[in-house]
Amino acid sequence: MSSSAQSTTPAPLHPAAPGTTPEATPVSADVPSSHPRQGEFGFTVGARLDGTRARTGVIRTPHGEIATPAFIAVGTKATVKAVTPEAVADFGAQAVLANAYHLYLQPGSDVLDAAGGLGRFMNWPGPTFTDSGGFQVMSLGSGFKKVIDMKATTPSGSDDAVAPGKERLANVDDDGVWFKSHLNGDVHRFTPEVSMNVQHEIGADIMFAFDELTTLHNSRAYQEESLERTRLWAERCVTEHFRLTDTRVGKEYQGLFGVIQGAQYEDLRRKACRDLAAMPFDGFGIGGALEKENLGTIVGWCADELPEDKPRHLLGISEPDDIFTAIENGADTFDCVSPTRVARNSAFYTQHGRFNLSGQRYKLDFTPLQAGCDCYTCTHYTRAYIHHLHKAKELLSHTLISIHNERFVVRLVDEARAAIETGTFFELKERVLGEYYAGNPDPQGA
Ligand SMILES: [Zn+2]
Repeated sequence: MSSSAQSTTPAPLHPAAPGTTPEATPVSADVPSSHPRQGEFGFTVGARLDGTRARTGVIRTPHGEIATPAFIAVGTKATVKAVTPEAVADFGAQAVLANAYHLYLQPGSDVLDAAGGLGRFMNWPGPTFTDSGGFQVMSLGSGFKKVIDMKATTPSGSDDAVAPGKERLANVDDDGVWFKSHLNGDVHRFTPEVSMNVQHEIGADIMFAFDELTTLHNSRAYQEESLERTRLWAERCVTEHFRLTDTRVGKEYQGLFGVIQGAQYEDLRRKACRDLAAMPFDGFGIGGALEKENLGTIVGWCADELPEDKPRHLLGISEPDDIFTAIENGADTFDCVSPTRVARNSAFYTQHGRFNLSGQRYKLDFTPLQAGCDCYTCTHYTRAYIHHLHKAKELLSHTLISIHNERFVVRLVDEARAAIETGTFFELKERVLGEYYAGNPDPQGA
């Protein structure tokens, strides 16, 4: 699974001519077609919005339900940065997403297993997700536009690009990926089986299949080759996941999502959906380098192909316009590190846009970060106080701004979900985006 790569010039989309999408490749005969415990995980579609792919629904997990569309709080290393799990529940997040790569390296997935799984380890009683680690492992191979293919030998020069001054830290082959730890340089290997073992030990309610990350710079030929590798890895993930479900007796059932790649090629995206939809996944992730300008189109292609009765997760968004675009095109859940990441740089969201609390104008501003906000921060603290904390390099500023920013995004998605049910989604979208992008009423805002 991979996150968005934003760029100034979007890569062109490659729509398919009608009727040119290749047929799905049949699933290998040795891949199980289902598992008896899959009924312990579920998804029910609720309301639909006419003329769009937007829908509401409920994901059922052993640790509770997630009403969708839902924003999933990112807790990469089993913590939403600077925020206690009690505060995460308080700002309304329904689930937390951690990262298998980071937890595998530190403290080790065996530690989480011994603790009774991710939720128990971090004292988060609700549903949890783990990203497969593929994005982190493979993005070690580059530093150019975030994501560049990791293949050691490639048919064309553009597929072997590494940013100047960056050492290649990961190499992909048909069986898996060799990579160097970003912590100490130790060499590790991830395969689909290793990723499944690690994610089972971590014990999240929703896991993602191990996939190869490609970029917009890869050639068409490389995209095709990579997509086939990801398809074969998906089969291996399913087989290993079911084997582990049988052998790890006494554990709660963990749902497995297949990851759709295919970059900006419509026929490849559609084929990937058809290939993976034929496998017994519990849901799907939409991966790859999704540029803002093409987000809706690509998510829409996938939503058209994927089965209606399985949830769809999109990684790496949080700007208000992206949220509406993703929901409108059929995404059920999504996540992003932005609310806490920008908070650590003292940026905060309001209905009028994103501003930066470092400005001197906030020194005597005894109003909340956002007027009328119901979050813990806004109901207890002023801009002047948090401005002071930031200037004094006090860590509490990270906590207070993170709580507000997370609440801002969670509340926006909650409002969108309610608006699908009442048929007022487009009124909400027009009002929210109109206010957010109308201009900057705050002269010090960043
Ligand atoms: Zn607030």
